Amino acid sequence: MSKTDLRGLSREQVRSLVLDLGEPAFRGDQVFEWVFAKRVSGFDRMSNVPKSFASHVERVAEIGRLEIQSERKSSEGTTKYLFALRDGQAVESVLIPHRYGMSVCVSSQAGCRMACRFCASAEGGFVRNLTASEITSQVLEIQALLDVHDVRVSRVDFMGTGEPLDNYENVLQAMKVLSDPGGLGIGARKITVSTCGIVPGILRLAGEGMQVTLSVSLHAPDNALRDMIMPVNKRYPLEELLPACDEYAKRTGRRVTYEYVLLLGFNDTAEHARKLSRLLRGRLAHVNLIPLNPVAGGGFERSSQQAVTAFSRELGKAGVAQTVRREMGARVDAACGQLRRRHVDAGRRQVGKRPDQGTEPG
Ligand code: SF4
Repeated sequence: MSKTDLRGLSREQVRSLVLDLGEPAFRGDQVFEWVFAKRVSGFDRMSNVPKSFASHVERVAEIGRLEIQSERKSSEGTTKYLFALRDGQAVESVLIPHRYGMSVCVSSQAGCRMACRFCASAEGGFVRNLTASEITSQVLEIQALLDVHDVRVSRVDFMGTGEPLDNYENVLQAMKVLSDPGGLGIGARKITVSTCGIVPGILRLAGEGMQVTLSVSLHAPDNALRDMIMPVNKRYPLEELLPACDEYAKRTGRRVTYEYVLLLGFNDTAEHARKLSRLLRGRLAHVNLIPLNPVAGGGFERSSQQAVTAFSRELGKAGVAQTVRREMGARVDAACGQLRRRHVDAGRRQVGKRPDQGTEPG
């Protein structure tokens, strides 16, 4: 019989697990805290619970682990981790230092079915959803490394491989676990869900009563351009996506972030900026301008610094709130999917297949 992975359970679920074993509910709180606040890796480390109780729980439950398969640090201080999953898949997470603290960018799926043209994660397609435990474990493993320096992860961004709203239940469960104040205690407002624009998922998330930040990968100011780089736009075009984002902002009181990767000659002119301004003016919105990662491929090139500045100035003139993202991690293959792609390609080479020619993410 397979054991229940405690890293995927909320406090209430751990309580009910111990109640089902005939143990008192407060023991469930103790186990939850050992797993998420004290981050022990074994039941024998739970020093304030009776040994007989610990071994009782161990018969039906386990504390999942993710093994770090590789790690790359950049000179800017970001660290990218490739985690091995039990079934041979691998997912990546990035630890990013900010002025306000440490954030971890997590993956929600192995691969992705959304096929955005500029993204390495889209290559090789979708493999499977990550479990809630595989999501929380990315944060827990990184936090465990930081514990020795007495440093805390203060933000979690669902911006790694995968479309989080395409793995809705497990992502929601992981967010509930991560935000429990008696565990990792990363408040919902410190969690960002980044979507390519799954409208039903946005509307559903709006009704969850969680004030997570919604970040939408927009990347184009009209349907014609967006269709060319993001197939999801054919299913959920801008006239459906933007009202859904407005609804999210209205119900949560949270400003929506719109990500816009600047692609040379494709979406980076002053006219594109004016179109984008007309689209977002009057909305509870913030635009995050992202220079394309300086890596070859994808059929796109990086916009010049002058184009980025001019684009930003046009938005500013129209009163649209915006920032230009600093390029943390560009030197560690930071954009989502790149490290994982190496792992996949290495596997393909081992079985004698030709690796795909790469496209690069934004
Ligand atoms: S950008 Fe996001 S949604 Fe699009 S293919 Fe990449 S991982 Fe999937």
